[in-house]
Amino acid sequence: MSLTDRDKDVVWHPFTQMKTADSPLVITGAEGALLYDENDKSYIDCNSSWWVNVHGHCHPYIGKAIQDQFTQLDHVLLAGVTHPKVIELAEKVIDILPTGFSKVFYSDNGSTAVEVAIKMVMQYWYNKGIDKHRFLALDGAYHGDTFGAMSLGQRGYFNKPFESFFFEADFLDFPTKENYKATLDRAEKLFETGEFAGVIVEPLVQGSAGMRMYESNWLNELMALAKKHNVLFIFDEIMTGWGRTGELFAMNHCNDTPDIVCLSKGLTGGVLPLGLTVAKQHIYDAFLDEDTLKALLHGHSFTGNPLACAAGAASIDLFHEPQTRENIDFICNAHSLFKERLEQLNLPLKEVRQCGTIIAIEVETGESTSYFSSIRVDAIRHFLANGMLLRPLGNVIFLNPPYCISEEDLNTCYTQIEAFLTTI
Ligand code: PMP
Repeated sequence: MSLTDRDKDVVWHPFTQMKTADSPLVITGAEGALLYDENDKSYIDCNSSWWVNVHGHCHPYIGKAIQDQFTQLDHVLLAGVTHPKVIELAEKVIDILPTGFSKVFYSDNGSTAVEVAIKMVMQYWYNKGIDKHRFLALDGAYHGDTFGAMSLGQRGYFNKPFESFFFEADFLDFPTKENYKATLDRAEKLFETGEFAGVIVEPLVQGSAGMRMYESNWLNELMALAKKHNVLFIFDEIMTGWGRTGELFAMNHCNDTPDIVCLSKGLTGGVLPLGLTVAKQHIYDAFLDEDTLKALLHGHSFTGNPLACAAGAASIDLFHEPQTRENIDFICNAHSLFKERLEQLNLPLKEVRQCGTIIAIEVETGESTSYFSSIRVDAIRHFLANGMLLRPLGNVIFLNPPYCISEEDLNTCYTQIEAFLTTI
């Protein structure tokens, strides 16, 4: 029996209509920016395997760190216990973030990191005995698939069956040049009610909404308003973190930092699941009390897993290597040249946008922008046939490759994108 047949028998895939989906690609190996199928055909990992891989697959330095850790300590609970790697990673994260962050709370993935951030905000006010119960998020947001994260995400097709179970949230229109001031005015009006506990954003780039980008100045102004009205600010840097925007974190483009930041994806180099919710001291202090019930009574079985922490610590070491910076700069420059080129060609494009190592090409399809755009399946097939694993977000074709991608492979991506666009 083939692997695809065996898969069909027993595996229920994420984000997939199992009745109509093409058979999955069987990947049996990976190295650097390439994935290999069972016949050893290579595919460029154009979107870094759900945007997680940053240093390339099977990086020997990260592999050795995990192996070494496994010979020492595989897993241990984190309540009443600590271990060297969980401390080392927290120290390295605080060291690499802009100043002001001081406490690291561990969980397992991006959604749980967001869930923890939401609970931190809710309980911060609860512990202080202040009734603030509303959250503000951005139209188009995606913060994960757990209930808190979904409640603060775009309402609509992905979450329709669950919507009646969500907690209420307010959504601000996605900021553009046209509504720049109107959105900030509305935020201020909402904050003036004194009812807002927190605000959450994907800073500068909304990933799942189609790599939609907005200005750091707008975010600076929103942060200032939140500060003025005592509303806690969460940055969901799960996708934007670890070099994706050209800087190490999206907040490095801003002139202030949030109260809480969520990290995952590239945190372990994209090798093992791990989520972090990093808080400033005033958040942490609100949980200190003689009363146990004022503690953050949240945790997961694999919280602070030593192997994942070892991968994270090794990945941060690689961020301190000059080569990583050079690789990021190379992709940023190459993307901006490709953007210029696309804009000069006569192609059916709504917009080409770039933020650091992310380039997004929004195709004009005559339909409104949607995840379920008709070009999506054709695009996936075209790219697979040409040795690329690239999954557009609806009519948005985008590249966010591992930073070690070769010039030749990056050029193949550009050539094939252009080729696909000419077929539309
Ligand atoms: N926040 C953002 C901005 C994301 O892009 C994602 C995942 N795409 C998540 C949260 C959820 O992360 P995870 O899939 O690891 O739960």
